[in-house]
Amino acid sequence: MTGEKKKKIIKTIKIDVDKCNGCRACELVCSAFHAAPKYSSNNPARARIRVISEPLKDIYVPVYAGDYAPAECAGRDKYTIDGKEYDECAFCRASCPSRNEFKEPDSGLPLKCDMCEGEDEPLCVKWCLSDALVLEEREEEVDEEEEQEELEVGLESLADKHGLEKIMDALARMSKKE
Ligand code: SF4
Ligand code: SF4
Repeated sequence: MTGEKKKKIIKTIKIDVDKCNGCRACELVCSAFHAAPKYSSNNPARARIRVISEPLKDIYVPVYAGDYAPAECAGRDKYTIDGKEYDECAFCRASCPSRNEFKEPDSGLPLKCDMCEGEDEPLCVKWCLSDALVLEEREEEVDEEEEQEELEVGLESLADKHGLEKIMDALARMSKKE
């Protein structure tokens, strides 16, 4: 299927793990920005970024919430960094049924980084005073039809998992945040 091409800004947050000191300001500001109403509370469990910490070895790895996965994947990854073996899926970005990461604590709905839509700069980047998070932007041509298909597939899997009513409730709550 060929469709119209349109320009899209691709945003990338470059993560320098060596500069991260584990302060978790990114988690706090993300959860505050996404609270309803905005900035009314902060709870890192609601953040779209998680810092995996190993304080004794001074290792901190920020991980961003990515796409929702309706089923657990069959293949897993296990990392060993500086002699410490991390849990399977520790650095995975997906909100998936196998674990509680990147899920809204009350509703269980998946969380995904939206790059702080509407803001000039992602807030986690702005408040990372160690410069461990740096925003880069570039322009790319994308297929409009493919974008629409992606959206429909995403909405369908969400409705399958949580039920349409729960999705509509969450949308209603989100629209009141502005
Ligand atoms: S704000 Fe920056 S330094 Fe602090 S935990 Fe997040 S990424 Fe690391
Ligand atoms: S870019 Fe915004 S939504 Fe994404 S993790 Fe950072 S603060 Fe949260």
